[in-house]
Amino acid sequence: MARTYDAIVIGAGVIGAAVALSLARKGLAVLALDRLPAAGYGSTAGSCAIVRPYYSTLDGAALGWESHFYWRDWGEFLGVDDERGLARYVSCGCLRLKSPANGFLESTVKLMDEIGCPYEHWSAEQVLERLPVVVLDSFGETKPIDDPTFGQPEGAPLPGGVFFPHGGYVTDPQLATHNLQRAAEAAGVDFRFNTTVTAVRRSGDRVAGVSVAGGEDLDAPVVVNVAGPHSYKINRLAGVEAGMNVKTRALRHEVCHVPAPEGIDFEKRGLVFSDGEIGVYIRPELGNHILIGSEDPPCDERQWVDPDDFNRDFTEQWRAQVMRLAQRMPGLGIPPRGRGVVELYDVSDDWIPIYDKSDLGGFYMAVGSSGNQFKTAPIVGEMMAELITACEAGHDHDADPLGFHLRYIDRTVALGFYSRRREINPQSSFSVLG
Ligand SMILES: Cc1cc2nc3c(=O)[nH]c(=O)nc-3n(C[C@H](O)[C@H](O)[C@H](O)COP(=O)(O)OP(=O)(O)OC[C@H]3O[C@@H](n4cnc5c(N)ncnc54)[C@H](O)[C@@H]3O)c2cc1C
Repeated sequence: MARTYDAIVIGAGVIGAAVALSLARKGLAVLALDRLPAAGYGSTAGSCAIVRPYYSTLDGAALGWESHFYWRDWGEFLGVDDERGLARYVSCGCLRLKSPANGFLESTVKLMDEIGCPYEHWSAEQVLERLPVVVLDSFGETKPIDDPTFGQPEGAPLPGGVFFPHGGYVTDPQLATHNLQRAAEAAGVDFRFNTTVTAVRRSGDRVAGVSVAGGEDLDAPVVVNVAGPHSYKINRLAGVEAGMNVKTRALRHEVCHVPAPEGIDFEKRGLVFSDGEIGVYIRPELGNHILIGSEDPPCDERQWVDPDDFNRDFTEQWRAQVMRLAQRMPGLGIPPRGRGVVELYDVSDDWIPIYDKSDLGGFYMAVGSSGNQFKTAPIVGEMMAELITACEAGHDHDADPLGFHLRYIDRTVALGFYSRRREINPQSSFSVLG
């Protein structure tokens, strides 16, 4: 006889796999579906997988700081082996430069004080000692590369930065998702790949299950949308968008892989480094390479796309990001051919995720991860499992939002922060910084 399920999770990316795992750990029979052939093959595969505590909101920062411990204790969290090995967390620390544009990071360190996250003020000399390949000229606001003043220093040099010792990156986001799949399977989750959800079925005012390509109907009283950049399409299939004050859409991004400049073994001595003036963030990559992502500076046009039809080739954007880093690292070569990743973020209207129920009974969503929720995936899985089991037991989360306790940093996040019905949060950076 076919197995019956308590919950269907749409999407087996890093967040979907984590949600499936946590629901199963609460005793639910779970089916995870993905249109792709393996877990973590969607936008998760292109993730830079940086773990950092600095966000512009208190709750965002608290989750970022908490996530460090999940990755530090990854094997313990999973509780199972994976025949492919476990994803590795490189806790190299993160350095963000102080500049006039970011208020010399005064609001950031206030948030760190509030959540008890350690940091160090680094002078210009300390920055240069750790990263002898950078210059601390100030370049003002991030500019397009055809701006006549591009690359020209202006004003006083930058005074240094703030170093966050507990942060870094996960070397292989797809492997991390496979690890979650193995843990979820050990907890009883079934995964079905190459299976595309084509309809969300209703019975009265509740969800009844999904239909998949080929015509099969799969039943469950709970369905969770974790479809990444396709999240808005699934919400439309479920007919729940009208009940959302904050919505999601897909944003195209390019990430560059380039060799490190002469004079530094960035793979061994490097760290996560970000700098609002040049509008990029970087992290070490295998083979003494540097991976360069964009911080969404206002001068760059945002490329909202259809997740089923977008350009996977590198464009001038790739060169712009490398040239922006070359301002800060003058020895950086500009390779003639682009290497790296073209992928999509699932961006919410205020760049803060939506972890919530919907107006359709039994239909939930963990969406709008806005380019910055790889790190939090294992926490989000637990948060969603608590939210779903409480709501299914009759709790009215809209009227009385639940809290979620962050066990490592001993702090409670009010989940109304992630509500689909919230007002746009003006404290957001409205960028990948969250
Ligand atoms: C370039 C890039 C860099 C990033 N860098 C960082 C970073 O440094 N740090 C950080 O914390 N975060 C980062 N992120 C964000 C992070 O990677 C994402 O927040 C996270 O991977 C989202 O996971 P997910 O499971 O929600 O989505 P996805 O991995 O996109 O998974 C969604 C899944 O749903 C499936 N799906 C969609 N529609 C259907 C359907 N109809 N039927 C069945 N399956 C369906 C897809 O196939 C996909 O596998 C980055 C993201 C990108 C793209």
